[in-house]
Amino acid sequence: MAPNELTDISERDAHFQKLPKVLLHEHLDCSLRPQTMLEMWSKIGFAAGPENFPMDVATEWMNGNHREAVARYQRFLQTEASKSLSRYVQAIVYHILPLMQTTESLTRITRERMEDAATDGIVAMQLRFAPQLHTHAGLTLHKVMDAIIAGLDRTSIPVVLVICALRHEDEEMARKLVDLAIEYRSRVGLFDLAGDEHANPGVLTWWARQAARAREHGIESDIHLWETDQPKAQDIERLVEYGIDRIGHGVQGDLQGSHLLEVCPTSNLITGVIPSIHQHPVDRLLKSGKRVTINTDGTLLTATTLSGEYKLLADTFGWGLAEFHHVNLTALHTIPLPEQTKNEIGALLSAAYVDSVKR
Ligand SMILES: [Zn+2]
Repeated sequence: MAPNELTDISERDAHFQKLPKVLLHEHLDCSLRPQTMLEMWSKIGFAAGPENFPMDVATEWMNGNHREAVARYQRFLQTEASKSLSRYVQAIVYHILPLMQTTESLTRITRERMEDAATDGIVAMQLRFAPQLHTHAGLTLHKVMDAIIAGLDRTSIPVVLVICALRHEDEEMARKLVDLAIEYRSRVGLFDLAGDEHANPGVLTWWARQAARAREHGIESDIHLWETDQPKAQDIERLVEYGIDRIGHGVQGDLQGSHLLEVCPTSNLITGVIPSIHQHPVDRLLKSGKRVTINTDGTLLTATTLSGEYKLLADTFGWGLAEFHHVNLTALHTIPLPEQTKNEIGALLSAAYVDSVKR
């Protein structure tokens, strides 16, 4: 596999890349290398392929102008995503998921993601996906799990897999996914609920019941919430009742309490749930003592990396080593990895964020 040859690295980017980072919130199906996606479509045939695909991108790729094709595709995605969260989800459904239906492609995409994560300075991560979205061409849920786990074979980064139920599904699917998580619990650390919270209200009842079942088997849960709306009081009560602490996003309103917040700044800008980075609450949340962590949500549709998120926060809010050390310690504290591994990562963080300042 070729390394990610299309990346330009300035010195400042390199500074943020070198910092060791813990990543809690990233979706595998939002994190393909754009050039891998375009290469895969070129083999299938762009004409026969994805719905709503910008044909100028296909033309550039077929003419060998790969860098230009990638740039144009990313501009297209940002325009789509800025229209609405559902347009963003549509791009995943039409352009990406059809490419993630074989064991070979799932393993390759996972392997490439781990290579790029290492380049980006990630030292521990949670990687999430919805296995049921990869069964459209006949793979079983088990085959999907095995293919993704096979993609972790060459990485030295400790990875916790997160299985996502989706809001438009039902309890029967959530039950199957919890069974799967239990079966694969040596690799799966969390059970999540993802999808459009605005379009699918009232689903916490069945999801929380399954989250409770996962918990009985030592698997905690994580939920996408406070992304587009502040949840209703009864939903917040339900989180407390079921002991659900981890929140994907958590950026709307001010009722987050002491929950762990997996904040994904660029994703919020791309989907338009926060109008501009200067209006993003992440700095206020951190300074008011909330448990903030910094994440990508994905690297393809947002065209970001975790070091890119750090640079954005440094440029916008003046965050420095102290803030970045703090958010990494918060992430490290919560990631379900063995204590020994966490101690080793803690030492890496201290060396980079504290000792380097003293020297
Ligand atoms: Zn997410």
